[in-house]
Amino acid sequence: MKHRTIIEPFRIKSVEPIGLSTEAERTRYLAEAHYNPFLLRSRDVIIDLMTDSGTSAMSAHQWAGIMEGDEAYAGSRSWERMQAEVQDLTGMEHVLPTHQGRAAERILYGHLGGPGKVFISNTHFDTTRANIEYTGAIAIDIPIAEGRDPAHEHPFKGNMDVTALEALLRENKGKVGAVILTVTNNSGGGQPVSLANAEAVGRICRGHGVPFLLDCCRIAENSWFIKDREEGMEGVTYRGIAQRMFSLADGAVMSAKKDALVNMGGFLALRDATLAEACINLLIITEGFTTYGGLSGRDMEAIAIGLQEVFDPDYLDYRIKSTTFVGRKLHELGVPLMRPIGGHAVYIDAKALYPHIPPHEYPGQALVCELYRLAGIRSVEIGSVMFGTYRPDGTLQPSAMELVRLAIPRRVYTQSHMEYVAETFEEVMRERSRTRGFRITKEPRFLRHFTAHFEPL
Ligand SMILES: *Cc1c(COP(=O)(O)O)cnc(C)c1O
Repeated sequence: MKHRTIIEPFRIKSVEPIGLSTEAERTRYLAEAHYNPFLLRSRDVIIDLMTDSGTSAMSAHQWAGIMEGDEAYAGSRSWERMQAEVQDLTGMEHVLPTHQGRAAERILYGHLGGPGKVFISNTHFDTTRANIEYTGAIAIDIPIAEGRDPAHEHPFKGNMDVTALEALLRENKGKVGAVILTVTNNSGGGQPVSLANAEAVGRICRGHGVPFLLDCCRIAENSWFIKDREEGMEGVTYRGIAQRMFSLADGAVMSAKKDALVNMGGFLALRDATLAEACINLLIITEGFTTYGGLSGRDMEAIAIGLQEVFDPDYLDYRIKSTTFVGRKLHELGVPLMRPIGGHAVYIDAKALYPHIPPHEYPGQALVCELYRLAGIRSVEIGSVMFGTYRPDGTLQPSAMELVRLAIPRRVYTQSHMEYVAETFEEVMRERSRTRGFRITKEPRFLRHFTAHFEPL
């Protein structure tokens, strides 16, 4: 029998209580946090969908590995395990352990970047862009046109526009530091990149003598989409698909806080010995010695195990289908969404949900606050609070889209938690026309979404 019900392919051995609260309590907590979920205490949150980064639940096997961690300064056994695992997965000889993804980015782009340099990506993730721009280089995003339209259905919306890539490489001859494929494309809603696209990008980069890198935080989730949607891939394992993608690239940067199923960690993997040597010098100065970088032995042990577990077909199937499950439930309720549903998150189009709330009254913030007040669900606004700027006359220059992201932590919540989330949207939809916007009462100059204060209108 083929079941409709998606079951979690694990049992629960250790539980972490969730503190339940009443709507009246949450109304107070929200006011105390100035209507900014970043200022809420985690203990007052019932379902935390703020991010999938570093929020995974580790397996019994990983926890056992933690006890096995070898904390030797040099040549740790845990390092040998992590190194062997990353080498086998990526096919790249040089592996540099870092404390998280951005540390690997700072090392690599600190070396390849600099004033006058250009970097090209399907979409640079925030920390990638920041690390590139910090060196004085320029970061250019060229997703395919379909990737920019939230309602458009396309199997590989994370793909790079290869025609634009060819043109940019010709225009910027001698200036391109690297071409980076982010898989899956985080900023674009966790949308996958096809193997065919990665092959085309790799071929073009080789033709121009430019390094081709993977930002591979969610490469296992990406492999699921390739096996499901790309022709000729049915018979290949998820790990085999990831290995094929790595085989096309010259290097890879990974935040292990995503698909390595750990709470902290990352690495940089490279083929070229000269480039690796330059990066190792920076690693030793800023992170640590080559056999631990920014990690303790136990962290490296957990990463080595997590990188195997993440390719388990039952895990990946459950992972992607449970994200789709949330998306499908909301879609059935008529909630406007970014389509199709990506791998790690569901994005809601708050502008379409609340057409009566103009961008300068922050429709995304309105939804984020509704979700918390009604159900204790914490989500993130990705719209004009995060990306809006002010024009010289003081009016708001809104962001292109007003989105709210529900990011799903790995192996943490069960189907009933997700049903609770979906049920909350029934009330969100009933309250839709009565929901009001917000105004900002206090904000810092940079990255205001983290600390800004709001007031309901
Ligand atoms: C999370 C992330 C990073 C940065 O990794 P950190 O571990 O948060 O420093 C880089 N790229 C992508 C695509 C990410 O999702």
